[in-house]
Amino acid sequence: MICLGIESTAHTFGISVIKYTKKLEVLSNVRDLYTTESGDDVEGMIPFKVSQHHLDCCDSVFKKSLELANVKLSDIDLISFSQSPGLGHTLRIGSMFAKFISRIYDIPIVGVNHCIAHLEIGRALAQDSFGKGCKDPVLLYASGANTQIIAYAEGKYRIFGESLDIGVGNFLDTLARYMGLGFPGGPKLYELSKKFTTKNHRVINVPYSVKGMDVNFGGILTFLKRKYDSKEYNSIEIAYSAQEYVFAMLIEVSERAMAHCGKTELLLGGGVACNLRLQEMAKIMCSERNGKCFILPNEFNVDNAAMIAYLGCLVFKSTGPGKIEDLDISPYLRTDDVDVTWR
Ligand code: AMP
Ligand code: MG
Repeated sequence: MICLGIESTAHTFGISVIKYTKKLEVLSNVRDLYTTESGDDVEGMIPFKVSQHHLDCCDSVFKKSLELANVKLSDIDLISFSQSPGLGHTLRIGSMFAKFISRIYDIPIVGVNHCIAHLEIGRALAQDSFGKGCKDPVLLYASGANTQIIAYAEGKYRIFGESLDIGVGNFLDTLARYMGLGFPGGPKLYELSKKFTTKNHRVINVPYSVKGMDVNFGGILTFLKRKYDSKEYNSIEIAYSAQEYVFAMLIEVSERAMAHCGKTELLLGGGVACNLRLQEMAKIMCSERNGKCFILPNEFNVDNAAMIAYLGCLVFKSTGPGKIEDLDISPYLRTDDVDVTWR
């Protein structure tokens, strides 16, 4: 079947066309990212501005996605959109767009959960260093708004640990913006951190914050902002220390989730999973416990519509099309509220 997926949970508006029979084939995966250019722009993501961005780009993203996939609307068998969780303003744009095409062209439609889509695309496409795929991984989902450790247990995707305040990407972005680096800040901090040498720089003793299986970043953010203001440490030292500490926290809870669930596979997902230092730490942890680490190409780590299309196919094959009255957006739906009918 050919499915058109629409992603709009936050800063990314994406449309993808996939072909899914036994194997997943991504025919196109187009995205347009809301971004602010300079560090002076301290406002971050204002929901109505992001939704305006999505409105402005939806038509061109749509056209480009169909063109790249070389399909016509009449070839599309299914429409899938991100229904939860996310910013209400932006979810609404994607869901309206999806419902509009579904209604006008009479194409079945399903709504899916964005966090679970990250996990399912990993099960379909991620590979370990030997090119093998994963079956039943623990997902370290590290993105802008979300930081969760998710694994399948007894019929549901359950959250074994999570951030009690902001997502790790949000932490990195806010710190970077404070340091005048612009948005998205994760990659900018990573570039700075690579300049760190033990000879010329000092590691900051950051307050490590793991509570049981959960983490939080707000206190660390305030702490590092103060270090930046006091000029006691330079930007390279702040970027390096921030990464080392918060990534160590994420790897610690991921490892404990693997031990608790008796699972041997770790999958990385979310935009922060593009970070090569986080990937390196995850690989070391997995090899030390005879586990395997699975990493996706970056285009499937960041928010993308291919994963929405793919999960749409899984849902459709197990339960059929959604009813229009069940397709309202659900900005606060939790990962473990979703009935996993396709596994
Ligand atoms: P998502 O919400 O999953 O699309 O992820 C967006 C987040 O990923 C933003 O907070 C980015 O700063 C972060 N990000 C993207 N690339 C990197 C990278 N190489 N290192 C760290 N964070 C990154
Ligand atoms: Mg995401």
